[in-house]
Amino acid sequence: MSGDANHMSGDANHMSSDASFAQLGLSEVLVSAALTQGFSTPTPVQQQAIAAVLQGHDVQACAQTGSGKTAAFALPLLQKLQLLEQDSLGRQPDMALILVPTRELAAQVGQVLRDLAQALPRRCKVAIVFGGVSINPQMMRLRGGADVVVATPGRLLDLVTHNALSLSDVQTLVLDEADRLLDLGFADELNRVLALLPPKRQTLLFSATFPPAVQALAASLLHQPLLIEIANTPQTQPAITQRAIAVDAAQRTQLLRHLFKTNGWQRVLVFVATRYTAETVAEKLYKNGIFATPFHGELSQGARTQVLDEFKAERWEVVVTTDLASRGIDIAQLPVVINYDLPRSPTDYTHRIGRTGRAGETGLAISFVTADSEAHFALIEKRNGLALVREQVEGFEPKELPVKPAVDLAPVPGTGGIKGKRPSKKDKLRAAGLR
Ligand code: AMP
Repeated sequence: MSGDANHMSGDANHMSSDASFAQLGLSEVLVSAALTQGFSTPTPVQQQAIAAVLQGHDVQACAQTGSGKTAAFALPLLQKLQLLEQDSLGRQPDMALILVPTRELAAQVGQVLRDLAQALPRRCKVAIVFGGVSINPQMMRLRGGADVVVATPGRLLDLVTHNALSLSDVQTLVLDEADRLLDLGFADELNRVLALLPPKRQTLLFSATFPPAVQALAASLLHQPLLIEIANTPQTQPAITQRAIAVDAAQRTQLLRHLFKTNGWQRVLVFVATRYTAETVAEKLYKNGIFATPFHGELSQGARTQVLDEFKAERWEVVVTTDLASRGIDIAQLPVVINYDLPRSPTDYTHRIGRTGRAGETGLAISFVTADSEAHFALIEKRNGLALVREQVEGFEPKELPVKPAVDLAPVPGTGGIKGKRPSKKDKLRAAGLR
């Protein structure tokens, strides 16, 4: 039961809006750990979450991607673990469990915790577990327990089944990107994990969006939570310029190449609807002298990690990806995001463009709008309160006229929907997101 919720907003007038990390209750060692990572002033979500987490409250935070939410839970969690009593063998039984939707996010969140934990006087073991790679090394690393486990739900359950891990000592549960966890169909796994946790615990739920399924989850899990909503003030709203370019579907790859060459972009993330398109668009660009590579779920875990690392290291100029990269992946200073294919839902649009303009940087998000996808883009605009001019680029003026869809929620050509097939669970969830 959620009980009475305490509400705080991201209002700049709030009392604690100017508090330093130390004033929020973080110990000297964690303040300096934050500083080592370049965090000198708390972001709004950190302003609100840190003291509440330290005081043991449940938290329900609606925070946009790039808001600094990882450190908002990581810093107070690490402090709490530092203060716990150890048993006679120097072990402390309490554990924090952080559930995330994707392998990449597990690796990223785990790394933030490890970086922050480096300077702590007492060793803090952070285990990162996710599927798609061999389970044995993860089992080995869990020997002797862990203070923090960052996990995707499926692999976590596998490890419990193999007796590599017990969840009975979990004192703090964090659900990160809860909306995405449910979107990806993790509801069953999530319920099985929840059934293994002690009922008395602190629970923190972070989500960029709060559709009914996430609200229901929050209501069932959180006890008198502190509600944090980060208002879209200029401070938190990343400076993302959004543009829409009308173009014929068949001209998109050439337009992409043209824009890349004429704008002198260094690094671009391009979103497409399918793995096949990711492969073919990347290949065409590569053949035309642009260092482009695909990124999607069919690549091995090793290949995915490598692509992200190389992209961060500026070895690739363009990464062409499916929605796999639309959430949680933090690539600092990513200046341009292109929607080659439109996302299926308005929420996915928000997540995709959130890959740029992170942590105060400026960004540019361009959507290619074709005759077939015009009606769908209008819907995305409406849901996100946007009204973008359909620009035209000389030499790429569209010749096809926008078509009106027969049915509002019919899968949009070019967004991965398959006509004539029964909608999958994912399709239904996405359709619900469009309403
Ligand atoms: P997150 O929303 O957790 O993915 O964080 C987004 C980005 O903000 C990451 O690159 C963090 O390193 C950065 N960040 C988090 N907290 C702060 C802070 N207090 N000051 C500056 N940058 C931060």
